[in-house]
Amino acid sequence: MRKSHLIKPVLGNDYPVISHGKGIYLYDKDGKQYIDGSSGAITANIGHGVEEIAEAMWNQAKHVSFVYRSQFTNEAAERLAEKLAEYAPGDLNSVFFVNSGSEATETALKIAIQYFQEQGIHTKNKVLSRWTSYHGITLGALSMSGHPLRRQRFSSLLEDFPVAPAPYCYQCPLKDTYPGCGVRCADELETIIQAIGPEQIAAFIVEPVIGASGGAIVPPDEYYTKIRSICTKFNILMIADEVMTGMGRTGKMFAMEHWDVIPDIITLGKGMSAGYTPMAATIISDRVMKEIENGSKIIMGGHTFSANPQSAAACLAVIQFMERNSLIENTETIGEYLLNSLQRLQWKHSIIGDIRGKGLLCGVEFVKDPITREPFEISSKVTERLLSICFEKGLLVYPAVGGVTGFSGDSILVSPPLIITKEQVNDIIDILDHAVGELTSLLITEGLY
Ligand code: PMP
Repeated sequence: MRKSHLIKPVLGNDYPVISHGKGIYLYDKDGKQYIDGSSGAITANIGHGVEEIAEAMWNQAKHVSFVYRSQFTNEAAERLAEKLAEYAPGDLNSVFFVNSGSEATETALKIAIQYFQEQGIHTKNKVLSRWTSYHGITLGALSMSGHPLRRQRFSSLLEDFPVAPAPYCYQCPLKDTYPGCGVRCADELETIIQAIGPEQIAAFIVEPVIGASGGAIVPPDEYYTKIRSICTKFNILMIADEVMTGMGRTGKMFAMEHWDVIPDIITLGKGMSAGYTPMAATIISDRVMKEIENGSKIIMGGHTFSANPQSAAACLAVIQFMERNSLIENTETIGEYLLNSLQRLQWKHSIIGDIRGKGLLCGVEFVKDPITREPFEISSKVTERLLSICFEKGLLVYPAVGGVTGFSGDSILVSPPLIITKEQVNDIIDILDHAVGELTSLLITEGLY
């Protein structure tokens, strides 16, 4: 093959060239089929190769593909914003479009700070977050991310925003046990706010179900109600980062609906365009917008491609596809089936410590000892090796590691497109079963287990 000029995630590694995709499958140039068990990066929610999305983009492109947001609005972006506002809970009625999840969370950070500035409050400049979290790779978003692995190289440029413990019952950061703990991890936020001073804090950001840094960590049921009331008590905005969990991934349009909790700002990305185009959004409540409307009237953010008509047309077509095929309802039932099937794998393989998730955002955590929950050594590269065995066998799963200080955190996400059938789930389970078996044998042979 001739020299590649494209920089790859890991230099020197071989990446097969993809030829095409259809439904839950991807095919490389050599004809090998892969089951997309992770929807790429939990993105391809409606599966690959849906022609009507391409048609919607083409129809828009025939009229106009690009207009600059400071000069014009456009019908596709207007209709998409209206649609998202219809679905969003409470008074979350205004939408700001950006191009990636990182930009969406960074915009949320800036809007939270601006909300207080508009009221003449200039001290609220911190946005708190949790350890074991990921909110994006740009510097503001990374400042909020409690992901040591991704922070370490740029730590001198980052704000120390992650402070609160994650509601991670399987490896509780407070070394406590639910329900006896009384969900102390939520109370801890109040203690931290009081120590820092609520007058310095603009917002608290959470992933409703922790994804990339922890592997589908679902908090106890009481957790978000507690968090919401602590935020309200101290006049701190609550931001739900639904970049991964939004757009039906967990069996509801927005994951926060599982707990009937209404945040002040929601971010979306990934599944919003289902990967057909780069598009993301920050949805803002009337309460927050009112201050901006009555104040400076300008959000100091936005990008050249914000509210791009062709991207908006793609996202609208994705939502229409989801509605017509009842994908959110499908996600609830098939998600339960996937979780139960993964649980059956756990009985068979002792390196599987925990199975968790909501809808089709499912996580599998691997441990050396299922009784003590002792993790594998980082050097055992358990997640990395499992990923490559699965890849070899034609199954894509997503690594969710590196979120916890001093803990290797070997977890994967199993999150196929929301169109998946039970038979296709069985195929995923079958491959995973063989892959975990193979990995266990390797670890035993090498004396690592
Ligand atoms: N927030 C969450 C919850 C995410 O999972 C991600 C991506 N994994 C991001 C933000 C960043 O999104 P992007 O990669 O599109 O910048």
